[in-house]
Amino acid sequence: MSTSPHLPAESAVASGTVTDRLVEANQRYASAFTDPGMDARPVLRVAVVACMDARLDLHAALGLELGDCHTIRNAGGAVTDDVIRSLTISQRALGTRSVVLIHHTGCGLESLTEDFRHELEVEVGQRPSWAVEAFRDVDQDVRQSMQRVRTSPFLLHTDDVRGFVFDVKTGLLREIEPTG
Ligand SMILES: [Zn+2]
Repeated sequence: MSTSPHLPAESAVASGTVTDRLVEANQRYASAFTDPGMDARPVLRVAVVACMDARLDLHAALGLELGDCHTIRNAGGAVTDDVIRSLTISQRALGTRSVVLIHHTGCGLESLTEDFRHELEVEVGQRPSWAVEAFRDVDQDVRQSMQRVRTSPFLLHTDDVRGFVFDVKTGLLREIEPTG
């Protein structure tokens, strides 16, 4: 069901499954790992909501270190009910107070429409309960996402909510004004 033209070549996962490769990498990681002794509350008291896009390395792009932030990711970085659930827990149980939203250029959701849902329903005989959250204008989508966070009745802190578009070609963030 993927529409991506950029599926990795078979050769990239030549020996074993990709999951085997990840588990092997973890063994190397753990062998050099020392317990940083942190508690679960993010040091910078920030939650970052971003698209799951593979080209977006949030920690590198934002200069984040282990323990600094919560990262909440999904297709599009859409502020769904489940993202609000995570943000609510992030703020009320784990002490964050700033929210950063990151969408990006060339998002897969720009090439989808809500027809995706309809086609899915036809194929599997069940209508998904979720919206595709497809969009045409990434700036407007960031504004809508900021608005959903700011107007959520469940969040304690909605005064520091900022939204950005990450350019996958330059690595730069561009801030989106809440109205515009
Ligand atoms: Zn995306």
